[in-house]
Amino acid sequence: MNIYKTYINGEWIGKEHNYDILNPNTLTVLGKVPCLGVEEIDKAFTAADEAFNSWKKTSLSFRISLMEKWVVELSKAKLEIATMMNNEIAKSLKDALSEVNRTIDYIKYTIEEMKRIQPKVYNGKAWGVENKYAIFNRVPLGVVLAISPFNYPINLSVAKIAPALIAGNTVVFKSSTQGTISAILMSKTIEKAGFPKGVFNMVTGRGRDIGDSLISNPHIKMISFTGSTEIGKTIASKNSMKPLVLEMGGKDPAIVLEDADLKSAAIKIAKGAFSFNGQRCTAVKRVLVSDKIADALITELLEIISNYKVGYATDENNFITPLISQGSANFVSDLIKDAKEQGAKVLIGNKFVRNLAWPTLIDNVTKNMKIYYEEPFGPVLPIIRFSTIKEAISIANDSSYGLQASVFTTNINKAMDIAHKIESGSVNINSAPQRGPDHLPFLGIKDSGFGVQGIADSIDSMTTLKGIVINYDENN
Ligand code: NAP
Repeated sequence: MNIYKTYINGEWIGKEHNYDILNPNTLTVLGKVPCLGVEEIDKAFTAADEAFNSWKKTSLSFRISLMEKWVVELSKAKLEIATMMNNEIAKSLKDALSEVNRTIDYIKYTIEEMKRIQPKVYNGKAWGVENKYAIFNRVPLGVVLAISPFNYPINLSVAKIAPALIAGNTVVFKSSTQGTISAILMSKTIEKAGFPKGVFNMVTGRGRDIGDSLISNPHIKMISFTGSTEIGKTIASKNSMKPLVLEMGGKDPAIVLEDADLKSAAIKIAKGAFSFNGQRCTAVKRVLVSDKIADALITELLEIISNYKVGYATDENNFITPLISQGSANFVSDLIKDAKEQGAKVLIGNKFVRNLAWPTLIDNVTKNMKIYYEEPFGPVLPIIRFSTIKEAISIANDSSYGLQASVFTTNINKAMDIAHKIESGSVNINSAPQRGPDHLPFLGIKDSGFGVQGIADSIDSMTTLKGIVINYDENN
């Protein structure tokens, strides 16, 4: 069994006290990672703070040269990392490889985006003021604390680390417990790229054990968090006056109108709902369908879902793979049980073997059921029927979440009208919700978050404006 080390101030740090990372496929121990204490965590922040003094002064071309080396190292390690993800979070090898490839493109695009950021010059002649010019530049903030979730341990981590580093910040990175080993392998590629010591640091330990020491560290100048609404709110409540970007949970609706292309809608909704077992923030988490076409849409969905192969992620034929933990499977099972008891009809699925959950479609879901409001983060899709568009919009907005939404229709006027009225960060017309392509702004409102990610927007959130105002005397 491998015992991994973590990377602080240019050194790989081990501990006597380690904790187990389970393989969700087998529920056996995959490896051990260090359980850091307050002292090591403080060391990571102090190193990052000290490194910031020189890193912020480096030229953009120097930082770009290191980012380009990182791309090379990440490309070399992609199969090793993807294979680890296959074992550590039960993501299919194909999807894991695609995540790493997407991340490589993310870094390349980040380099390009940073090149486009130039100071703005203002002519200060206004309101009786004369002889003044102002130059406003974007400058780095300092130490960025990056906290990422288990479902995209590489992409969602690098989506914070890359914009932070290119802009001249230093980083303390905390990955989710499930995903730590994959993230350690990714961190090795940063080390190999040759970033100066202290510029990038990774801390390990369970969030519930080390969260408070992380959030309260005085060196932090910005926090970028992606994860559940519950933890995001905890972080926000403990954070004092530090810029914060929170990307949190969702309950994305897919609204299907009676004029929609049903076959196409069903294909996109099924993929949107069941890819990576529904463990995606932007998974379709409820279908709102016109009662005139609900039965026809259900027939299409059932045909797709009944063909899904279910089993270990190590078998590439399987589309539905084990959930991240037994606790997640129990949560999904309880939601289905509650819906059934309240009168919903389970059309397919509701089968569990340990943490493997079969894809489940539930019809006639109503307000009195937990699944109407809760984010299951599992392969279960509730169907809610509506009779008018007004009712569909009202159901869509009857949620504490506001990440994304979809509208399926062939009528662009209706699509635009609904899109404007839905309370969410974005609305996809005739596509499932999705994060990306990665350069698009990505955000949630309500309990889904605040602040914006996306490459340019992430750089924005990790820098601040600094103005230099030139006053001159024209008589000299
Ligand atoms: P999570 O349980 O909230 O964990 C997210 C991260 O926070 C992990 O690194 C976790 O570490 C850490 N953490 C836990 N407690 C903490 C504390 N007290 N202080 C500081 N950090 C703490 O979320 P998850 O289960 O990994 O991911 C699933 C959730 O993320 C879903 O709700 C999903 O919708 C959301 N998500 C949102 C987006 C988006 O962009 N909007 C994208 C992906 C996922 P440990 O693992 O060690 O606990």
